Amino acid sequence: MERLLSVGTPSVFSCPDCGGVLFELKDGDTVRYRCHTGHAFSLRSLASTQEQVTDEALWTGLRALHEKEAMLRHLAAAQIGDPRGLLEEADELATVSEKLRRLTEKAPAPRGFVRGN
Ligand SMILES: [Zn+2]
Repeated sequence: MERLLSVGTPSVFSCPDCGGVLFELKDGDTVRYRCHTGHAFSLRSLASTQEQVTDEALWTGLRALHEKEAMLRHLAAAQIGDPRGLLEEADELATVSEKLRRLTEKAPAPRGFVRGN
């Protein structure tokens, strides 16, 4: 880490591979990012990796909401807790899930961004 501080500055980005702080390293007009464990990115590869990580996080969140909704419906069916309250919460989750799914499916790649570079 001390070596990175001597050659770069901490950026506002975290490493998509390990979650560590990414340091910004400038070499003329070229900017690169590196974390303390050695993961390294160009600006393009960082953008591409962040897009993948964001997509995965959104779909993971969506899956978790669906599973929670299903669990609430199972609890209500088993008469555990307040079935009416559980079903209301499940319905609210279904509404939120649907909105999130629509946003996730239509989220465009950043303008001018070409995947895979
Ligand atoms: Zn890393």
